[in-house]
Amino acid sequence: MFGSMMDRPLLVSSLLEHAERQFGSTEIVSRETSGALHRYTFLEAAKRSRQLACALAQLGVTHGGRVASLAWNNHRHLEAYFGVSGSGAVLHTCNPRLHPEQLAYILNHAEDEVLLFDTTFLPLVESIAAHCPMIRQYVLLGGGQDMPKDSRIPNLVCYENLLAACAGDFVWPEFDERTASTLCYTSGTTGNPKGVLYSHRSTILHTFAVSLPDTLSLSAHDCLLPVVPMFHVNAWGLPYAAAMNGCKLVLPGPKLDGASLYELIEGERVTCSAGVPTIWLGLTQHMEQHDLSLSTMNRTVVGGAAMPEALIRTWTQKFGVEVRHAWGMTETSPVGTQGSLLPKHANLTVEQQCAQRAKQGRAVFGVEMRTIDADGNEQPRDGKAIGELVVRGPWIAAAYFKGEKPALRDGWFPTGDIATIDADGYMHITDRVKDVIKSGGEWISSIDLENAAVGHPAVLMAAVIGLRHPKWDERPVMFIVTKPGQTVDKAEILAYLADKVAKWWLPDEVIFLDALPLGATGKVQKMELRHQYADMLDCPA
Ligand code: AMP
Repeated sequence: MFGSMMDRPLLVSSLLEHAERQFGSTEIVSRETSGALHRYTFLEAAKRSRQLACALAQLGVTHGGRVASLAWNNHRHLEAYFGVSGSGAVLHTCNPRLHPEQLAYILNHAEDEVLLFDTTFLPLVESIAAHCPMIRQYVLLGGGQDMPKDSRIPNLVCYENLLAACAGDFVWPEFDERTASTLCYTSGTTGNPKGVLYSHRSTILHTFAVSLPDTLSLSAHDCLLPVVPMFHVNAWGLPYAAAMNGCKLVLPGPKLDGASLYELIEGERVTCSAGVPTIWLGLTQHMEQHDLSLSTMNRTVVGGAAMPEALIRTWTQKFGVEVRHAWGMTETSPVGTQGSLLPKHANLTVEQQCAQRAKQGRAVFGVEMRTIDADGNEQPRDGKAIGELVVRGPWIAAAYFKGEKPALRDGWFPTGDIATIDADGYMHITDRVKDVIKSGGEWISSIDLENAAVGHPAVLMAAVIGLRHPKWDERPVMFIVTKPGQTVDKAEILAYLADKVAKWWLPDEVIFLDALPLGATGKVQKMELRHQYADMLDCPA
């Protein structure tokens, strides 16, 4: 017997309608490419999103058609989030840091018909347009004054003219909630990137999960700053969550350096923000250099890579900001876990609490999570047994775009992360499957070693890889970038690590670099390091 409740579809457009009606005067502040701040309200954003939906229909984009974006976190990109998906088309957010060839590949693979792009990316679009025959219409996200005098881009129009030709009376269509809403390709460190196709249903359910007290705890009293890019995994769902909860939304545009972020946080009275650890590293350096403090921000969500414990301590103790460590992937929409503390942790020292927060956290409701061994057997939840993390839930990918199937393990998505889970459900990632270091048959956690090294006052960033070794199969090698003006040597690093990790974990070599190789989503490219230093330890014992 079914329940007798209404079967109303969960649609992205309903978030904006809700914001328009309940929080119409709430502000959206957005940094333009020029650096100036643009301000308007949810009421205006909703009207312009409807104008965009109407313009797309006039351009011949139909239900399920793909519209790509190459844009920063700004108000026009936000309109695309609602205008494209709300109309029944699919917004394909593209990462501008991809290699141009990869970018052309994903635009063609997605069969995008329209490309919306910020002025910053004009040269990039000019370089790939000839290789993207399916794109019928290029739209520059700006006004007439931003249009280039002459451009090699065919069928180029400006966004503001497109909108001006449409009234704001478009009526959001209703359709099946399982309809695709957005498309995001994985960063593709090996092989071609794969498309993850989110649905309206998965997006709305994920938005509820993001808003929960232990995740972001959002309300209309919040001012939310998503530093995490809107071109990667829907900025962790924060634009949708701002509309659901009526948060003031602050979008940082292209300026992600410490000084610009600090100015925005203080100037707009941001209470909550979200980003990858490298962003907070930049802001930390800026604040420490200028002896600054934060007057309104009380919490930040950090994920995408492990947040080093030392950085968590700085934010907690020095800046008074609660760090919520979250884990997720493109394939998980992305939020899978959050690292808030439990009542039982209240009596721990601040240092112990920070150590707890350095774990990736507990599954949010809706995500089931376990670790398995090579034969697929579930590992005990004892905080010690290591295995591959597998997940399942209504916002986890079951397949890639165009039918490519991930190798599901009994219906669970294999994350490629190696982790432990403890009795309270806290998950702790020790490595990516491909980054695992096996020395003399035992595993060494590269992430734990990196986190320990970053605690040294002279160390800005650290990366550890396993290199072939004639006696031990593999041994760890550490790469370090020091803070500006600081020096440290191998002996000092090894001495510093000595009481923090097992003796046999200590790296065989410590190499100092000016910078670590970073990929399109800002993660360290360990593959590049492995490639470059492959034979370093492979000499006779
Ligand atoms: P992507 O799909 O590009 O967003 O990358 C997802 C991967 O990033 C995950 O499988 C993890 O390896 C890594 N990752 C995400 N969040 C965290 C975190 N909080 N700590 C450690 N690694 C993380």
